[in-house]
Amino acid sequence: MLLGPPGVGKGTQAELLCQALGTCHLSTGDVFRAASCQCDPSPALRSALEAMRRGELVSDGLVVTMVEERSACLRCRGGFLLDGFPRTVSQAEALDDLLVREGTAVDAVISYELPLDEIVDRLGGRRTCSICKAVYHVKARPPRAGGVCDLCGGALIQREDDRPESIRVRMRAYEECTRPLADYYEMTGRLIAVSADGPPEEVLERSLRELQTREESARH
Ligand code: ADP
Ligand code: AMP
Repeated sequence: MLLGPPGVGKGTQAELLCQALGTCHLSTGDVFRAASCQCDPSPALRSALEAMRRGELVSDGLVVTMVEERSACLRCRGGFLLDGFPRTVSQAEALDDLLVREGTAVDAVISYELPLDEIVDRLGGRRTCSICKAVYHVKARPPRAGGVCDLCGGALIQREDDRPESIRVRMRAYEECTRPLADYYEMTGRLIAVSADGPPEEVLERSLRELQTREESARH
């Protein structure tokens, strides 16, 4: 499981970790962004998407239902990697129940850490492909041709919730609702704090090293 504030680099690391470990990536943010393309969303989904645009959290009930609908991911032979879920203690408790039902467990929780000014810089510079959803950064990970996706040629756009007014709301939601989760997982001895500073490949190396150390100490 990847924890950490919005913009710290969870999605970027999730992609690299899944390539390295062969795990199945489940990002609730990606699930909601994909749902936003539906032409006739249900009232519940429509109000969730409005909350998302403002930078607020989507209701626990809807998030948990969305995850339960994708529980096949938790049975993936290569394991699973949760990114952006859970985000509240109530979601964490619902996940515990779901994992018991699925006969599986979360082995490790990586909590990425980065100073606030760098997080704001990462969020403000994030650009996403409007077609394939690949993620870039105007300075740290620029596309080869300005404003155009390297992979599919789609136009790069700024996420609505990466605008300054939504960023402030998201950081507040993180501090109030998500940060307490670190204590929740610390109590069960699964929390690993990892610095998200440096280029993505360096952060990946650091993460893999921490996971390996943890696995070795669990074996002894
Ligand atoms: P999150 O999933 O935590 O919201 P992302 O993975 O989408 O974060 O990253 C946020 C922005 O920061 C993106 O523009 C991404 O390209 C950039 N980014 C991610 N990791 C790094 C890194 N290690 N160094 C510099 N920029 C990064
Ligand atoms: P992310 O891509 O993880 O930054 O998520 C983008 C937005 O989707 C968040 O700001 C929330 O509005 C919504 N969202 C994603 N995951 C959750 C979650 N687990 N709980 C509540 N809202 C979520």
